[in-house]
Amino acid sequence: MSEIRIENLRKVYDVPRGKEVAVEGSTLTVPDGDFLTLLGPSGCGKSTTLRCIAGLENQTGGNIYYDEDEVSDRLAQERDISMVFQEIALYPHMQCIDNIAYPLKVRGVPKGERYERAREVAATLEVEELVEKYPAELSGGQRQRIAIARAIVREPRAFLMDEPMTGLDEKLKVRMRKELKRVVEETGQTVIYVTHSQEEAMMLSDWIAVMSDGEIEQYGTPNEVYREP
Ligand code: ADP
Ligand code: ADP
Repeated sequence: MSEIRIENLRKVYDVPRGKEVAVEGSTLTVPDGDFLTLLGPSGCGKSTTLRCIAGLENQTGGNIYYDEDEVSDRLAQERDISMVFQEIALYPHMQCIDNIAYPLKVRGVPKGERYERAREVAATLEVEELVEKYPAELSGGQRQRIAIARAIVREPRAFLMDEPMTGLDEKLKVRMRKELKRVVEETGQTVIYVTHSQEEAMMLSDWIAVMSDGEIEQYGTPNEVYREP
């Protein structure tokens, strides 16, 4: 089975007054190609979990596996993930096409090939006609699409998103959710997504992990988690 798995993940921060337990023994599995959402209120440990999976944070305890490989000691850049945050950071001095192609450039993909691939992904996100522009010339939703294109251009093992819809207006959120769902289905990309919106989680996910106070309270399909009593 191809999957990403976390076992008994625990993260304790040192804070001035002692210890802050952010994640208290989470266990989760995401089969390849599936969409998992970490859902819960602010401060429940969603971002910390995501950052540990990405390797941006060292866990205090527990293990993270990609298939049979334990990756806890691997640096973020060795884990083959890409991440989109709520504060989108496109390179402002680069045209969108160069933004999208940049992760391929870093990996030494030849120029012709990387622009071809970048245009292909731009087409999937329906932003082909915007790629000659600079980020500052785009709307929030358009920038979001470019950011997603850049994140998936090299087909990472996992695509992690932390509240990516924050800052978009309600109408755009609904559109971007549909877009994201379509793109994820088309590309078969494995996604781990963080949100505090139950509605968003219900619409997007194959699996939902409901977090509260650093623990996973419920884990299942949207229907299992929110079935009528
Ligand atoms: P969420 O993403 O669900 O809002 P976080 O994972 O950001 O939750 O935070 C979980 C808990 O850990 C919170 O109590 C938060 O204050 C604390 N926390 C998060 N990051 C740090 C940090 N770098 N240092 C100390 N405490 C932190
Ligand atoms: P090439 O000619 O091989 O495509 P360039 O050096 O001309 O490479 O860069 C292509 C694009 O990538 C340009 O838009 C450039 O601004 C951008 N770029 C190159 N290196 C960096 C970097 N270290 N950080 C951000 N952008 C970069």
